[in-house]
Amino acid sequence: MARPFDFLRRRDPAGAPVPEPTTSTDDAFEVLAEVAGDAVVRMDEQGRIAYLNPAARRLFAFDQGEVKGRPFTTLFPERLRATQEEALRAALATRGARDVASVSARTRDGREMEVEMHLRAGTRRGAAFVSAVFREAATASSDHFHALAETLTAAVMIYQDDVIRYANHAASVITGYPREELVGACFWELAHADQREMVRQRGQARQAGRPTLPRYEARLLTRQGEERWVDLTATSILYEGRPAGLAAAVDITEARLAEGAMRESDRRMRHILENVQLIALTLDVEGAVTFANEYVLELMGYTEEELVGQDWFELALAPERREVARRAFRAETAAGVVAPHQETPIVTRDGDQRLVSWNNTVLRAVNGDVLGVAALGVDVTERRRVEERLVYDAFHDALTGLPNRALFVDRLGSALARSLRRPNYLIAVLFLDVDRFKTVNDSLGHRAGDQLLIQMSRVLSAVVRPGDTVARMGGDEFTVLLDDIAGTEDATTVAQRIQDALAQPFDLGSHEVFATASIGISLSGTIQQPEELLRNADAAMYQAKAEARGSFQVFDTSMHARAVSLLQTENELRRAVENQAFLLHFQPIVELATGRVSGLEALVRWEHSRRGLVSPLEFIHLAEDTGLIFDIGQFALEDACRAQRGWREELGVDLPVSVNLSAKQFAQKDLLERISGALRVTGVPPHRLKLEITESVLMNNAEAAIITLRRLKELGLHVCIDDFGTGYSSLSYLLRLPADTLKIDRSFVVGLEDETRNAQLVGTIVSLGASLGMEVVAEGVETEGQRGRLAELACPYGQGYHFSRPMDLERTTAYLRARAT
Ligand code: C2E
Ligand code: CA
Ligand code: CA
Repeated sequence: MARPFDFLRRRDPAGAPVPEPTTSTDDAFEVLAEVAGDAVVRMDEQGRIAYLNPAARRLFAFDQGEVKGRPFTTLFPERLRATQEEALRAALATRGARDVASVSARTRDGREMEVEMHLRAGTRRGAAFVSAVFREAATASSDHFHALAETLTAAVMIYQDDVIRYANHAASVITGYPREELVGACFWELAHADQREMVRQRGQARQAGRPTLPRYEARLLTRQGEERWVDLTATSILYEGRPAGLAAAVDITEARLAEGAMRESDRRMRHILENVQLIALTLDVEGAVTFANEYVLELMGYTEEELVGQDWFELALAPERREVARRAFRAETAAGVVAPHQETPIVTRDGDQRLVSWNNTVLRAVNGDVLGVAALGVDVTERRRVEERLVYDAFHDALTGLPNRALFVDRLGSALARSLRRPNYLIAVLFLDVDRFKTVNDSLGHRAGDQLLIQMSRVLSAVVRPGDTVARMGGDEFTVLLDDIAGTEDATTVAQRIQDALAQPFDLGSHEVFATASIGISLSGTIQQPEELLRNADAAMYQAKAEARGSFQVFDTSMHARAVSLLQTENELRRAVENQAFLLHFQPIVELATGRVSGLEALVRWEHSRRGLVSPLEFIHLAEDTGLIFDIGQFALEDACRAQRGWREELGVDLPVSVNLSAKQFAQKDLLERISGALRVTGVPPHRLKLEITESVLMNNAEAAIITLRRLKELGLHVCIDDFGTGYSSLSYLLRLPADTLKIDRSFVVGLEDETRNAQLVGTIVSLGASLGMEVVAEGVETEGQRGRLAELACPYGQGYHFSRPMDLERTTAYLRARAT
């Protein structure tokens, strides 16, 4: 239905003005005006006509072009122009809307007509404007109120002494009575029979100006006998000089019907409840079943007859739970409040237990009496099983089934808290690390390694008391929590028992192996934090390992001091990396037959402010652990290459330089980029750089190592297998490792002069190298005797103090210069 002025003055159904939309009203104005049934004329700040909409052009018979720029007063007869001019100014000045006014307007051809006019000022693109909306007055009524009321869709009625004095058009539409019948009729008789009294009383109070509900819902009967719901707003006014009641009613029957549809959806809900996998039950206040859906019948294995009317607690609960549950239920229904969420197990007819998660609500009659309880439940048995499994998995080691680190620390925490509360209550942590586990893993394979760990976990669990916890911390590390012990001796006794039990050989199917473990022990005493106790046990374990494999050590504070000093070294090393406090020494590699220098190995040194030059043996391990090795390694690469280029350019000595790569560096993703970067910035050709990688690093993951070495070889680099003989190379891998050089470990060279066994080994390595097409270098050559023996064994190259100690750059350069001539 077209409602005049709607786009200018928007109201919600209750009649409250709605704030004007803030978004581009200008354009909305044009668009609405173009389609509006009412005549719309827009004036600029000076009151000149700027726009006429189609309806205005029709009403005034003016063309847009004709009147544009002419004064607003053009639209009125001479005698009214001054007043209208003033009305326009007033609207502009107040930036407001002038109420609807009935005026005479004038068409192009001088015809006068009665119109209702509404003026409104606004701002458009920064400039003020006024719009006028004209509507030909149909009833020619000059009463503003009536004019406005006629435009409303809400029924408006004015009554005095219960008699309707005025009713608008909408009132007649809603009630179904023609207006003539409404006016003069009794106001409250329009209401539905059982509401008449209420409407009457409120209406009278209203008319007398007494406060009453300003707004309420009422039911009325139409002339056709239909029921309609209205939202009634009432107020008291003066009408024709006498107090009157004014009622505005909005038809809300549609909305009410929608509510009815909701009730229909209740029925559908019930249908859903019947079919969904949701337990739906209602119980009366005594706990007897009053409704049970299909699903619950199926789940529990009863028919409806068997369940409905029966005591729920008797039927569904395990005997030992019944009484408590029943008492709680009765107390709850008596109080009218139930625990909304509960999880309880129920027992089926077959005696199966199902865990059900319940959602409960109290059922009440209309008068508020508690009728019982409605319970919706979900069978969470499976879900809970999965959850429990997940929780278990999260706290247990998958391989051995032992508690994992998280659970161990948790238990340790509780035990520690107990021990701190009670006197003479000590706990101990045993930290156990399998000796040479890597060897088993590398030589016999991961499956054998896993087998060993599983069997060890069984041995450990068998040795401790039932209340103690054995956990696997990861890798080959286990921990044992000894709860409530008398003192150190108890802990060392257990440690010894573990060592004894481990002394038996383990049967790994294809192999029988002997395994030992190093154990560190730490006792609670004054320690507050579980981590601290663990750390101490770990430190003691390292101490045990350093002293003798298969031994145990009890933590003492000197170990703590060592740990602290390690931390300090770490900080210093970090700073050294920042300050680039490293330099390289070089040690020549010599051709044994001729004594000629065939290459140089770069060995890094840390220039420490207090300690002087620090050997890499003291910090490479720490650098690996902290990741600082990447920076240190990159320095070594670049500096070694710089030295190589220097010697070539200054001395014409173009020798390969060897650089050591640690395990972490070797495993680094961007290793190749880093190396080629170093070659690029220094301008050293790839074949003049040799990378030394220890045998154990290569064999750790031989397949991956083969791939990485191939890539390095593709770059044109040379590769040396360092410390050869100390790892556990399998010949098959060795055949596939694309290396250029084998460097025999120093430990084989040491006893070369007297131990025949070492000589045999060296001989074997030399011939192995020859058959694989690899160069062989013996390192750690300290004496002439060793040199001679190596030469006899046909070892082509050597390196060691006998030829030269590692030297700084300057001395190396001098050394090379002396030999170059
Ligand atoms: P390595 O690769 O086995 O290096 C040989 C070590 O033996 C060097 O110790 C060297 O000074 C020492 N040496 C040489 N000749 C003799 C000898 O006749 N008798 C004895 N007893 N020792 C000899 P250094 O310089 O202390 O280096 C120790 C280890 O540190 C190296 O062992 C290497 O594994 C590592 N390293 C050195 N520089 C670097 C580096 O730049 N990066 C990495 N990742 N590791 C490095
Ligand atoms: Ca080396
Ligand atoms: Ca070496």
